[in-house]
Amino acid sequence: MVLPDFGFYQPISVKDAIDLLMQKPNAAAMAGGTDLLVEMKNGIRRSENLVSLAKIPEMKFIKEDVKNLFIGACTTHSEVIASPLIGKFAPALVEAASKIGSNQIRNTGTIGGNICTAASCCDSAPILLALNASVEIAGTENIRVVPLRDFFTFNKKTILKKGELVTRIIVPKSEPGIGACYEKFGLREAGSIAVVSVAAKVQLVNDICVDACIVIGAVAPTPKISGQATTVLKGKKVSEFAEDLPLLEEAGNAAVRDSIPIDDIRGGAQYRRDVLKVLVKRTIRRAFELAVNNEK
Ligand SMILES: Cc1cc2nc3c(=O)[nH]c(=O)nc-3n(C[C@H](O)[C@H](O)[C@H](O)COP(=O)(O)OP(=O)(O)OC[C@H]3O[C@@H](n4cnc5c(N)ncnc54)[C@H](O)[C@@H]3O)c2cc1C
Repeated sequence: MVLPDFGFYQPISVKDAIDLLMQKPNAAAMAGGTDLLVEMKNGIRRSENLVSLAKIPEMKFIKEDVKNLFIGACTTHSEVIASPLIGKFAPALVEAASKIGSNQIRNTGTIGGNICTAASCCDSAPILLALNASVEIAGTENIRVVPLRDFFTFNKKTILKKGELVTRIIVPKSEPGIGACYEKFGLREAGSIAVVSVAAKVQLVNDICVDACIVIGAVAPTPKISGQATTVLKGKKVSEFAEDLPLLEEAGNAAVRDSIPIDDIRGGAQYRRDVLKVLVKRTIRRAFELAVNNEK
């Protein structure tokens, strides 16, 4: 397969990019191109005009205020990993970014592209959902901020309308007593797409779990918050989640009930359920450990 011919545009502002996306026939935004160009090459997708976002400074930055991190949508996974700010205030996002593809993919692929592709197996969405992130969306009419939990509508589908761009991702900073982490199971140790993934965030006050969010990936059409597993955690003591106690098992089973896995080339539905249960238990235990250390 070879890439078909296409028009290529490199605007230097969000406004110009949106104008081009509205004016050029069958146009698509391109950040790193690691998903888009592969799909075009394989004939899965056809775009006659590509609007590159790579030269737009307003989409490439990492900033903070008192409560939040602001990550430009065109920040690459390698830049996320190297950022001292993200390392300090959202270390679980660094962990997730480190598990994406290879060095080449991490140097080129962007956090915005990862969520806009909206694959249920993408690695940044579960942890961003667990951390209660939002996305800023710019369009012809206005700029809106939407919680990430309302962004995905189905596998590879989002709420984005024609001409709209995700410009930045807003991530609440970690606070004392919060522990968050991401686990991914792929068919190889490195460079493989998730067969199952789980992100967990817990918040402890005096060893009680006052807040939690468990997100399951690659086992439903979109990355999904497991409401049932999250409920099992809330209000409980950390000591109730020891390896051999029933609550941990209950949380694993609850996440499986919330999953809707499919059979595909990477794994059968039952295999995914079995792996999910193990991964949920592992992720919860690790999130609690991190939270206990962060409480001191
Ligand atoms: C070999 C290989 C390995 C990979 N491994 C992994 C992996 O382990 N984990 C993983 O999660 N992914 C993986 N991927 C997928 C891909 O690399 C990532 O999803 C990457 O983050 C996509 O970012 P990008 O900037 O390249 O997106 P692009 O390919 O540029 O864009 C992807 C889609 O998002 C849209 N888009 C991009 N940016 C925006 C924006 N700001 N606003 C609106 N729409 C936008 C584009 O129009 C397109 O539809 C892999 C890909 C390859 C080729």
